[in-house]
Amino acid sequence: MKLANPDLLKFQNYIDGTWRAAARTMAVCDPANGELLGNVADGSAADAETAVTAATAALPEWRRRTAAERAATLKRWYQLIVENSGDLARILTLEQGKPLAEAQGEILYGASFIEWFAEECRRVYGQTIPTHNPAMRLSTIRQPVGVVSCITPWNFPNAMITRKAAPALAAGCTVVIKPAQETPLSALALGQLAHEAGLPKGTINVVTGSDAAGIGRVLTQDPRVAKFTFTGSTAVGKLLMAQCASTVKKMSMELGGNAPFIVFDDADMDTAVKACMATKFRNAGQVCVATNRIYVHQAVHDEFVEKLRTEMAALKIGHGTEAGINMGPMIFRRAVERVWELVQDAVASGANLEIGGEPLPNGENYFAPTLLTGVSDDMRIATEENFGPIAAVQQFTDETDVIRRANATPYGLAAYVMSENIRRANRVVEALEYGMVACNTGVFSTTVAPFGGNKESGLGREGGVEGMAEFYETKYCCFGT
Ligand code: NAD
Repeated sequence: MKLANPDLLKFQNYIDGTWRAAARTMAVCDPANGELLGNVADGSAADAETAVTAATAALPEWRRRTAAERAATLKRWYQLIVENSGDLARILTLEQGKPLAEAQGEILYGASFIEWFAEECRRVYGQTIPTHNPAMRLSTIRQPVGVVSCITPWNFPNAMITRKAAPALAAGCTVVIKPAQETPLSALALGQLAHEAGLPKGTINVVTGSDAAGIGRVLTQDPRVAKFTFTGSTAVGKLLMAQCASTVKKMSMELGGNAPFIVFDDADMDTAVKACMATKFRNAGQVCVATNRIYVHQAVHDEFVEKLRTEMAALKIGHGTEAGINMGPMIFRRAVERVWELVQDAVASGANLEIGGEPLPNGENYFAPTLLTGVSDDMRIATEENFGPIAAVQQFTDETDVIRRANATPYGLAAYVMSENIRRANRVVEALEYGMVACNTGVFSTTVAPFGGNKESGLGREGGVEGMAEFYETKYCCFGT
């Protein structure tokens, strides 16, 4: 892999400020063509324990620093990420598959969390509380929760790390990160830049490995870890929540979704189609807030489907480093097989296949952008998160009914509403049981606002003021006079 700064390519774990080999290695491959990118440390549960020991040792000194001191170090990290964004994007595209422009967007989005939380940590205030007793003085102070462990997914190999590590470090916590096995290089490059930025040894540790369960047990059960933060599937999240129970860890869970996308008959069709394309085909649909169920009012159904079909047919698919590519491969063959099965199940259950519907010849991990109409709520394509480039369209006629259908899922991450009617838009946004609702746009995620889900989509929020609060304990202090 050719980089302007070859130092960013690391193959060992970053523990206690040093690069360490593991007993074994694991292969990291380009999902677009299977090419070997390198052999990376295949860390073990013992390596995770060593990292927790390092984070525990580093905690007293890091938390003692002033917020301004921590902020200055974090801003150097931010600056280095921005300066190296071209290389970081290239690493990301090669190990994950998304188009280079999207990877560049992710690097800057990821970096923005570091800048923002570096600023925000200077404004974390306690309170003085009007007392209930003249002989007592009541106040609160906010203190870092302690050692934080993080497990992150492959779909956003950079931003899912910074969204957790930045507020944790800004708050005065130290961190141990286990990235997804498929995308360790982006995580290790972030470790290298944290090192260059002067984060003290042990404040940030990256342990890569294929034994997710073994490493995960340490990160969720070691009593020295105070907080566990996870982004991934609901199934794994539930398992890890149970593991965290043994030591009553604080937890943040960013889990799966099943986003409804509702197009009313008073929507602007071009806005709706543009928003749908943005939420559905970014990262080949492998996004937790990706639209999963598209509900279109009967009166505008045909117009919407026609416009969507035209846009989908124009998508350019190929290796993410090629110019003008809109969509790359899926992460691995298993994901391709799964979406293919969901499409076949929908068609067998009566859905109409408008375009796509099968793998593409570009390489074994490519699947065609697929448009299904005549979908119904009981099909697997609607009840399960398809996590692929599948647009599954249903019809509706009644506002109350479509709200009921949109809410009829155990998930509650993101929802989309397309309407030019301000009263209706307000009504529907308020009625949707989701952590995030976007109206007349398909792109809403930002550093400054809280990201997270209701119901089985998770616990806690990342980003915004709420994202900072996840890494503090509030201590109530009562002084007798
Ligand atoms: P996943 O749950 O399989 O993996 C996520 C991480 O958990 C990886 O690092 C993996 O190695 C690790 N893991 C897997 N099994 C484990 C175990 N037994 N113990 C400890 N760690 C384990 O999910 P995925 O396939 O990588 O990601 C897709 C899912 O993530 C989707 O459901 C998506 O919606 C969700 N996601 C959610 C958000 C969000 O913010 N809510 C963001 C991105 C992805």
